[in-house]
Amino acid sequence: MDISLDTPLDADKQLIIAEVRRFVDREVIPVARELEHDDSYPFALIEKLKQLGIFSATIPEAYGGLGFDFATYVQVVEEISRGWMSLAGIVNTHVLVAYMIAAHGTEEQRQRFLPTMAEGDRRGGLCISEANAGSDVQAISMTATRHGEDYVIDGSKLWVTNGVHASVFAVLARTDPGAQPPYRGMSVFLVEKGMPGLTVSRTFEKLGYKGVDTAELVFDAVHVPLASLLGGREGEGFKHAMSGLEVGRINVAARAVGLAQAAFNDAIRYAQLRTTFGKPIAQHQAIQLKLADMATKIEAARLLLQKAARKKDRGERCDLEAGMAKLFASEMCQEVTLEALRIHGGFGYTKEFNVERYYRDAPFMLVGEGTSEIQRLVIARQLLEQYKV
Ligand SMILES: Cc1cc2nc3c(=O)[nH]c(=O)nc-3n(C[C@H](O)[C@H](O)[C@H](O)COP(=O)(O)OP(=O)(O)OC[C@H]3O[C@@H](n4cnc5c(N)ncnc54)[C@H](O)[C@@H]3O)c2cc1C
Repeated sequence: MDISLDTPLDADKQLIIAEVRRFVDREVIPVARELEHDDSYPFALIEKLKQLGIFSATIPEAYGGLGFDFATYVQVVEEISRGWMSLAGIVNTHVLVAYMIAAHGTEEQRQRFLPTMAEGDRRGGLCISEANAGSDVQAISMTATRHGEDYVIDGSKLWVTNGVHASVFAVLARTDPGAQPPYRGMSVFLVEKGMPGLTVSRTFEKLGYKGVDTAELVFDAVHVPLASLLGGREGEGFKHAMSGLEVGRINVAARAVGLAQAAFNDAIRYAQLRTTFGKPIAQHQAIQLKLADMATKIEAARLLLQKAARKKDRGERCDLEAGMAKLFASEMCQEVTLEALRIHGGFGYTKEFNVERYYRDAPFMLVGEGTSEIQRLVIARQLLEQYKV
């Protein structure tokens, strides 16, 4: 039985979440293990996600989307991650870019990108990190220099999720490299795949989070029109990226909850089937204590997640809440997947069970969209503001 928060949702939304749950049970879980072990891009599942409208989930209805609020969307993400976290990663990066366009783009940019992004044919990728700048976003070195009616983008971006299969990228670059502090001189550009000078130079093999393309993109004098500048004004990019990262952190927290839920589901089932010393291991108190702790932590993370999502839905700044949800959920996920592996004993260490995949997927939650250390810094900064003496 899934542990679920009693979130009052209207009937339409409940139906969609139930449909996603059925889709995950029938079509994702049966194929996820093989696709993951082969590190295969899930083309067929992507087509089904398109049909379900998942790529349009948070895009406003006026631009062809379902117009979900984040409190609903995170429940969809949980469900998908319960089946295969990688699949949720493909969707989340896209949703984040669509959010940045909807929230910060010009009307022309919204009209141009959102309807095709809602269909899922044009998918998004986020280009913030570089080889020498991950946590320290202000240290990026990519530049965008104005030349007449164009900007010319130079530099490279690392770790781009959807780097191979996305067709529009939100790219953070320095438009005023001399600005102090540096964030004041940064802007986001919407860059389409196929622009001359834009290439995928390599992809990464990873511990987990397989099936998803993680790539390095090289921008070698890529000319983009002025209309590519997100929101039409220079110097706003850092703010746009940070507001996108709030969504990203809520997304990762939802993935962590879904992944931990999958590990818990498998563990409590196995614990009732596996017998030692004459009784199911679920009847040994040591195992019961683990199960109780796992379920409690998952539920606590889910509550933090809902709180952050609702604040984002109210249009309020939520870096504190998103940071807390992401920190707690990702650390919880790491613990719960390890406990699930322990409950499976030796079998947990084999590829015959899904629990080894959950265990390999969990550490990415600790890094993606900002590490736990960075979440703590964000949280502490906000707390010191709020509790200023
Ligand atoms: C699979 C994968 C997919 C990704 N997808 C994307 C993507 O789509 N788009 C994108 O832009 N990026 C993406 N990233 C990048 C990700 O956001 C960064 O890896 C992450 O922010 C950490 O940056 P870094 O790797 O440079 O580590 P670093 O910043 O070098 O940090 C190294 C260590 O130092 C710690 N640290 C750093 N600064 C401090 C500090 N001030 N105080 C205390 N500790 C500190 C960190 O917590 C970490 O433990 C992805 C990464 C991975 C692995």
